[in-house]
Amino acid sequence: MKQYDFEEERVKQEIIKLGAKRVLIQLPEGLKPEGPYLAKVVHKTGALAIVSADSCYGACDLATTDAESLNVDLIIHYGHSKMLKYERVPTVYVEARATVGVEKVVEKALPLLKEFQTVGLATTVQHVQTLDFVREILLRAGKTVVIGDAGRANYPGQVIGCEFSNAKSIANEADAFLFIGGGRFHALGVALSTSKPTIVADPYEKTAYSIDDEAWKILKQRWACIEEAKNAKTFAVLVGLKLGQKRLEKALSIKRKLEETGKAAVLFAIKEITPESLMEFPTVDAYINTACPRIALDDASKFQKPVLTLNEALVLVNEVSWEKLCREGLFEN
Ligand code: SF4
Repeated sequence: MKQYDFEEERVKQEIIKLGAKRVLIQLPEGLKPEGPYLAKVVHKTGALAIVSADSCYGACDLATTDAESLNVDLIIHYGHSKMLKYERVPTVYVEARATVGVEKVVEKALPLLKEFQTVGLATTVQHVQTLDFVREILLRAGKTVVIGDAGRANYPGQVIGCEFSNAKSIANEADAFLFIGGGRFHALGVALSTSKPTIVADPYEKTAYSIDDEAWKILKQRWACIEEAKNAKTFAVLVGLKLGQKRLEKALSIKRKLEETGKAAVLFAIKEITPESLMEFPTVDAYINTACPRIALDDASKFQKPVLTLNEALVLVNEVSWEKLCREGLFEN
C-alpha cells in the first residue's frame, strides 16, 4: 500500500471532465519518486502526461509558465493544498494525505509531554485528518487539547512553511505543541513562530523527540546574521520569480528603507535562490530575500553572506525590535 492517497480515480475524472489532452504533473521533492507511476495513471485516460522535474517547494510555486510554454491543458499539483486564488492554467490539487498510522508515535510522545497540561496540535495537510484521533489519545491521557483555526490555512491545525497562524492563534493557551508529521521543517516553524516547547511525533520514522534545541540554535544564528548584515555596505534585494513568491512592492519598499539608512541596494530577480547563485556577486555584502522566507533560515550555514528575511530586514533598519520579531515571527509572510 502507498504511503499517500494519490486519489487516482478523482484525478482521472477531472482529466476526463476537462477533456485535457496534455497534463503537467508537479510534485514536491519527497513525492518525486512517484512521478512515473502518476504519469501512468494519467495515460490511462488517453491524455499525455509530462512530469515536471524541477523543484517544487510549495503551492506558491505553481508551474504555470512551464505549463503555458508546453501547451498544457491541466496541471495536477501534488502534496500541497490550494494557496493561490487565481490560476491561469486549470489546476487540480491532490493533497496526498498520508495513510500511515499515528497512534503508536503519539503514544511515544506522551512521556515527552508529561510536564505540560495544555497541548496545542499542529500538522501539515498530509495529516490533518488525524487530528481528532490524536486529540482523543491526549484527552485519554488527561491532557487539555487546543487546535488553532485562524482561518488562513485550509484546515484547522494546519501549518504551511511560511504560515503558522493556526499555531500562533493558540500559543497563549498552549503549554507546549505536539506536531504530527515527518521532517523537521514544519516542526521548527511551529517552535520558532510560537516560542513554545515543541514535540514532534514522526509517523514515518516512528520516533518522538523535542525540536527545541534545534530551534534555539536557529534563533542564535539569525541574531548573528542580522548583526553581520549591519556591517554590510551593499545589499541585493532578491525578488522571487516563482508565481506565489513575487513581492516586488515589498522589495522596493525595503530597498528604499536600506538607502535611507545609508546603504546601497540593488534589486535581483531570481527563480532559485542557492548559495552558488549568490556567490556570483562578490561585491554584494548581504542579501534581503523577499521570496520564500524559509530558504536562508534552514540552510543559513551554506550561504557565505548574510541572507535576511523581510521581517529580519526590518530589525536591520531599526523599524522593529529583535524582541518583537521573535514574538511576531522571523519569517512569516
Ligand atoms: S513561500 Fe516557501 S515556505 Fe511558503 S509555501 Fe512557498 S515554498 Fe513553502
